[in-house]
Amino acid sequence: MERSGYYGQFGGAFIPEILVATLEQLQAVFGQIKKDPTFWKAYQSLMSTYSCRPTPLTYSENLTRHFKGPHFYIKREDLNHTGAHKLNNVMGQGLVVQRMGKTRVVAETGAGQHGVATATMAAKFGFECTIYMGEVDVVRQRPNVFWMEQLGATVVTVKDGSRILKDAINEALRDWATNMDSTHYVLGTACGPHPYPEMVSYFQSIIGSEARDQILGKVGRLPNRVYACVGGGSNALGIFQGFLGDSEVELVGVEAGGEGLKSGKHASRLVSQDGSIGVAQGYKTYFLQNDDGQMLETHSVAAGLDYIGVSPILSAYHEQGRIRFEAATNDEVLEATRLTMKKEGIIPALESAHALAGVFRESSQMSTDDVVLINLSGRGDKDIFTIADALGDESWKRFIVNRAEAYSA
Ligand SMILES: *Cc1c(COP(=O)(O)O)cnc(C)c1O
Repeated sequence: MERSGYYGQFGGAFIPEILVATLEQLQAVFGQIKKDPTFWKAYQSLMSTYSCRPTPLTYSENLTRHFKGPHFYIKREDLNHTGAHKLNNVMGQGLVVQRMGKTRVVAETGAGQHGVATATMAAKFGFECTIYMGEVDVVRQRPNVFWMEQLGATVVTVKDGSRILKDAINEALRDWATNMDSTHYVLGTACGPHPYPEMVSYFQSIIGSEARDQILGKVGRLPNRVYACVGGGSNALGIFQGFLGDSEVELVGVEAGGEGLKSGKHASRLVSQDGSIGVAQGYKTYFLQNDDGQMLETHSVAAGLDYIGVSPILSAYHEQGRIRFEAATNDEVLEATRLTMKKEGIIPALESAHALAGVFRESSQMSTDDVVLINLSGRGDKDIFTIADALGDESWKRFIVNRAEAYSA
């Protein structure tokens, strides 16, 4: 295999023969796009009129005062259309699909956020759209399934295997292999076979390039540290790319520590002892797996961080030591969510609250006039049931039961 698409020893494209031609086509079109300055302009213009770009940078005065420094600056990806950074990637891929002359997209989704973003993009571009989802997730994520359908997508319930994300991935790949001429596979994070990690990071780099300009404009210097949560790694790579060349800026990625790294119930591939290097789902990276290469169950209060692999690009920076990785537990994350709501009037997604938890934990080690940049990858409205449950709010259970009774009466 050619060595393009490798980051150190990580990455590559371990794919069935049948998909080689279509991935080569994608690589070729993406290669042209990267060299074409009018493309990035068109992308920026689309994102500034259809989503909320550039997203603001918020100085969090109250949190800064609460912790007695450092100065907290929050990059507001929660203000994007559909509520998270995910739209940056799918809209970029929409433009790529147009260039390739294809008319249909497929994707898989676990928590449903990527499915909603993809269905949104397909509606806007006028593409046909099919979303694969495990049966267990279809039941858990009923509101997202409803919106995907209203947005015009066909949601296919996958009943094979354990009926979760990995089974949906298999079905989406099968669809793609059958319909390659018309269909593009919209991957949701900076993982999978080449060129997906590079392409997804490229679109998400809009976060870091804006944030860099914004912080230089507001503070007059670079931040001391940048924090982001890490699921597949796309929002983290998005913001980090603005600062990778500045060795004085410390980059910190925060994984899902779940119930603790020793509990076996977490999704920490890089920090815990349960992650090791392997090849799966078309690429080489750190996976949560046992000694026989069997994938382990992941767990996190934040569904979007619940993933067995991690971007090969992040694995490479981990090995080089350029990015430091930490893990935050569910309890720390809920506490960070509570504090951010009360102090700043911002409801963070539970995923994004991992970045907040990471910085809150370390704030006492920093100097009071240090500057910290935090990527708030999404908003927490979607997490209402999880947060209410975790905070012990029983009234929600009554609300749901009462509604069910009202409708069945
Ligand atoms: C999906 C999601 C994530 C995790 O994805 P990355 O690729 O790691 O960024 C993080 N935050 C939010 C709000 C998400 O919806």
